[in-house]
Amino acid sequence: MMSRTLLFLLLSIQMVTSQESKIKALVGGTLIDGFGSTPIRNSVVIIEGEKIKTVGTIGTIEIPNNAEVISTEGMTVLPGLWDMHVHTMINGHSDYTYWDKTYPPLFKDVIMPASAHQLLMAGVTSARDLGAPLEESIAVRDAINNGEIPGATLYVSGPFIQKKPYPGTEDFRWGVNGVEDGRKKVRKLAKAGVDCIKVVDQDQMTIEEFQAVVDEAHKFNLKVVAHSHRPEEIRRGLKAGADCFEHTGLSSAPRYPNDIMEMIKERTADMSQGPLFWCPTVEGLYNYEYMRDNPEKLDNDSWHLGLPDSVITDIKRSIAHPDRMPYFQLTPSRKPTLETKIKQLLDAGVVLMIGTDSGIPMKFHSQSTWNELDVWVNEFGIDPMYAIRAATYWPALWMGVADEVGTITPGKYADIIAVEGDVLRYINLLEDVDMVIKHGARYK
Ligand SMILES: [Zn+2]
Repeated sequence: MMSRTLLFLLLSIQMVTSQESKIKALVGGTLIDGFGSTPIRNSVVIIEGEKIKTVGTIGTIEIPNNAEVISTEGMTVLPGLWDMHVHTMINGHSDYTYWDKTYPPLFKDVIMPASAHQLLMAGVTSARDLGAPLEESIAVRDAINNGEIPGATLYVSGPFIQKKPYPGTEDFRWGVNGVEDGRKKVRKLAKAGVDCIKVVDQDQMTIEEFQAVVDEAHKFNLKVVAHSHRPEEIRRGLKAGADCFEHTGLSSAPRYPNDIMEMIKERTADMSQGPLFWCPTVEGLYNYEYMRDNPEKLDNDSWHLGLPDSVITDIKRSIAHPDRMPYFQLTPSRKPTLETKIKQLLDAGVVLMIGTDSGIPMKFHSQSTWNELDVWVNEFGIDPMYAIRAATYWPALWMGVADEVGTITPGKYADIIAVEGDVLRYINLLEDVDMVIKHGARYK
């Protein structure tokens, strides 16, 4: 019997060779290239193998005879989306304690691959996975990159770094006990090959411990993603030089206090440090009451992809009563503060990125990203082009891979999606992406 690894290897070789000889031409659609200027009408994108070869318009560039011509007439063509805050180790189940006890044996082969596949089919070709067991994170990321399984390209943090793991979470939450220990934990992650460092509860560490974690990460060229739920987490993050902040935070408090706003502006004024990045992750909170009162949406089966029936049933049972979930009891009081906080950040010159916390209770990888875009644009009035760049150009830049992905530019990987209609006018068309191409291969 052929071993599974050998079979995978043969399949991937076959995939690569058929891709390399393949030329595709996306012809006719309106192209948003990710840089932010006026879309290109009647566009042509030539893909050769995994990469984008040429970008232009009908009549100005030649379509090779041997190209597979794919009509994008009537469609918006844009770079594959990024979601900068996902949790592939969870799938919307409402009880974390139960999940963490029950499903870790399935993380590597079932749960995390299913999440990554669901993201991809939603048009998310890249995602930052913030917090999961180390070995599993690396294995799933690499299996996707090697073409063994379908999924969004993952950039993984591995375990959360924090003062103390919550009981029963030691496998994916690493505690820091002293400066040397902090450095040691970061070094271990760096040597294992993570793509960034995720820190939470940094207000519970000593200032020296947190600074050591940040400095050690930077020594290894790893950026630090910092939780910002509590005021002191934000202050510490800004002081220590964290590279990205997560969530609008501050619970039901109405707005960021003045001293924090002053610190943020001090930071955004210093161009030498580059932009200050923030993933507000608002949709889960913003849409909670709607979801609670209109739970039909939860029956959309897009989130079943890759999950065994037993797991689906288990998740369904756990979310049968959206109104009773402890996780969301305070959410109605937080909802009205989200827009204020986002506007404060925008006014201060922060660069916002799309991130969703997908995987948290009732928030599925197949649906979260477009919902975040929808809330930004349709509820908060953020410019749709800004929102799209927050899900394409900026994430690729933050991740240090702007030379390879993030825009539709010759020489970059062909990570491209297309959707029927005008996305700049109706952003929630992204709910149902019609075409997904990742590294030149068509998945949808
Ligand atoms: Zn999160």
